[in-house]
Amino acid sequence: MIDNLLDANLRWAATKTRMDADYFRRLARLQEPEYLWVGCSDSRVPANEIVGLDPGELFVHRNIANLASPQDINFLSVLQYAVEVLKVRHIIVCGHYGLWRGARGPDAAPPGLDRPLASTCAAAGPRTGGRVAPD
Ligand SMILES: [Zn+2]
Repeated sequence: MIDNLLDANLRWAATKTRMDADYFRRLARLQEPEYLWVGCSDSRVPANEIVGLDPGELFVHRNIANLASPQDINFLSVLQYAVEVLKVRHIIVCGHYGLWRGARGPDAAPPGLDRPLASTCAAAGPRTGGRVAPD
């Protein structure tokens, strides 16, 4: 099983370099994302892909239900690095519908909740004056 992933990675890397010989050299030098994305770990919500950005253009933190908890040292590390080192201009906290449906069937409700835990996507940043609003 892991061999399939390694083979797929080799094919992907070969395709990238065939299309652009300097792709990986340029990517290694460039990490200047404009956005920090806090999203769900759900495998159906690949951050870069759903917003059409390439590697290096989106700094990503993912966990179950896109939590941004002040008790989560991993999230705080990502946030600090994104703001202080990478100087991101926008922070996006993005949830999605159907949080529990994939794993528990189409009609399943999450235990203890009567609606999806995370169902909105919003951004706050300098251009919105810190307000929560779509960008
Ligand atoms: Zn989710």
